[in-house]
Amino acid sequence: MWLSKRIQSVRPSGVRKIFDLARAVKNPVDLSLGEPDFDIPDEIKEEGIAWIRKGFNKYTPSGGIPELREKLLRYLRGRGISCEDVILTPGVTGGLLLALLVTLNPGDEIVIPDPYFVLYEYQVLLLGGKPVFFDTYPDFTLKEEPLRTALTDRTRVILINSPNNPTGNVYSRQELEMVARVARENNLLVFSDDIYHAFTYEGDEYRLYLGQFCEHCLTLGGFSKDWAMTGWRLGYVAGPKEIIDSMVTMQQYVFSSVNSVAQKAALFALDYDTTALIDVYRKKRDLIYNGLKDKYNVAKPKGAYYIFPEVPGGDGDAFVEEALRRNLFMIPGSVFSSKKSHVRISFAASESALVKGIEILRTMV
Ligand code: PLP
Repeated sequence: MWLSKRIQSVRPSGVRKIFDLARAVKNPVDLSLGEPDFDIPDEIKEEGIAWIRKGFNKYTPSGGIPELREKLLRYLRGRGISCEDVILTPGVTGGLLLALLVTLNPGDEIVIPDPYFVLYEYQVLLLGGKPVFFDTYPDFTLKEEPLRTALTDRTRVILINSPNNPTGNVYSRQELEMVARVARENNLLVFSDDIYHAFTYEGDEYRLYLGQFCEHCLTLGGFSKDWAMTGWRLGYVAGPKEIIDSMVTMQQYVFSSVNSVAQKAALFALDYDTTALIDVYRKKRDLIYNGLKDKYNVAKPKGAYYIFPEVPGGDGDAFVEEALRRNLFMIPGSVFSSKKSHVRISFAASESALVKGIEILRTMV
């Protein structure tokens, strides 16, 4: 009786249901995780610890500390992303919420490719917006016709995530240019969730940002994945000054400010080269793809740390429950999609867990 209509509109996340089932299994081979299996590099930890000792433990300005905002702007512009300003946020999670709070009116529609990261749907719903999904099966590329068909006169934003969670796909230059063109023609804002950008395993043609091609774009990124700082809760949103200014105002009332120490560590992290860590992930990607490709209908992931095979029989929910009985834990595709034909396997795991997981998956077909 105490709960708002708002929370009642949020159905329990499918992830939570499957986590409850997994809890009953002792020491499963866990290929469900959405965070890197490496820890924050020691030098970055030491930087954070040093700033705690120096007493950098108070509130910081709502937009973030100026030296980090300036450095991030140089970093993003150096990558060709058009942005006038940037705000530090509690992860991309907090950044997306602030971005939606200042751009979306109740009833506005936001167009999202399906499959999609589960958070998008609920943040939009919580704010009274309407998520409108367009299908990218079977190859998960972005096609112009389904995108255009999803647009209505209530559409305000197109939200793109590349490298993609859950498919592991990375969009090509043509796909990004197409999104930019459609957005421009229809006077739409674009949100680009680039959080996995460092985890790109293919050549330059795939190392692009949507923000290179759009003028009216919010680029969302953060420190959770590249530098494994998930628990330090630090992300950013860059884009047009008018929107970023409003987000800073909104942040005063929603989060106040972000983690002080994480911002100092992030200043240092931006110069920390993660190529060696990413190379390890490319090997994990090869290991799991080569282990599954002759048994499953599966695309080779170009980025992130997920692989998204179709399961025999087409029921990913039942398949995940069967895998749990065999001691393997992964996430049903239905958590991320209106379809349940696939499952999301995370390769952010140790090599030995991956080898065991592959063995189990090969016995299931
Ligand atoms: N965006 C995507 C696509 C993600 O997969 C995740 C986390 O798994 C996030 C955003 C959340 O990132 P953060 O830790 O910066 O809030």
